[in-house]
Amino acid sequence: MNHPAPLPHKDFFVKFWGVRGSIACPGPRPVRYGGNTSCLQVQCGEYGFIFDAGTGLKDLGAELVKSGPKNVDIFLSHTHVDHVNGFPFFKPAYAPGNRIKVHAGHLLPRSTVREELGKLMSQPLFPISIDIMAADMVFDDFHAGETLQISKDITLRTVPIPHPNGATAYRIEYDGKSICYVTDTEHTPGKLDETILGLIKDTDIFIYDSTYTDEEYTRFKGWGHSTWQEGVRLSNAAGVKTFVVFHHDPDHDDDIMDGIARDVEKMRPGSVVAREGLVLRP
Ligand SMILES: [Zn+2]
Ligand SMILES: [Zn+2]
Repeated sequence: MNHPAPLPHKDFFVKFWGVRGSIACPGPRPVRYGGNTSCLQVQCGEYGFIFDAGTGLKDLGAELVKSGPKNVDIFLSHTHVDHVNGFPFFKPAYAPGNRIKVHAGHLLPRSTVREELGKLMSQPLFPISIDIMAADMVFDDFHAGETLQISKDITLRTVPIPHPNGATAYRIEYDGKSICYVTDTEHTPGKLDETILGLIKDTDIFIYDSTYTDEEYTRFKGWGHSTWQEGVRLSNAAGVKTFVVFHHDPDHDDDIMDGIARDVEKMRPGSVVAREGLVLRP
């Protein structure tokens, strides 16, 4: 995947195209943070990646088609609808000459990512079949916990995280820096997740499932999500440089999100609340 603008040789960044959890929320109330569901673009020099295929993927796809043939790797945290419902609307997948590789780490041995995305695009839920995609479509299932060597200087570490039907968290390392993407996951109050702590140790950017506040969480135990306060606790314990609040509750409008931004800044100065269009460099 090439970026439309010329890139400095070792440019490493993450751009947020969708920051919501559960369901997209268009309309006037969440306009400053954005209403699209999970989708990140990560660029490591010449290599480009996409993490999750929520509704934010549609606009990212439209951007990518402007700059010629594409070689795109999409890594899914999991296949709940809010993380895949942009996939049928990803324009590069319909153009011959593009190569799209979709990876998931939570489905084996019961099914495959090809099978699950095929269900998403099947009648009468969706009018066209996945087979209509004219790009060279490749589907890859791995086991969360594996480390994937993408190239000589790009490493992708993966771990399984607790979420209904499973999910995968990622740490991408490039040029001595790292970005961690950890959503969707549920914590146990009073006990930091050792697997996540190991993954995010000393990372530069830690993007975390912050669907709820600690106060709200008591009502949503077992729903598979976490809180921004738990993200702060993990960040402090693991020596994270920048903590990023992500996977916002669709009921958290701009005013509520501004309040969370103020609270997180007090608790861990320098933290960031993800919004659509935001670009962060480690
Ligand atoms: Zn989600
Ligand atoms: Zn989920």
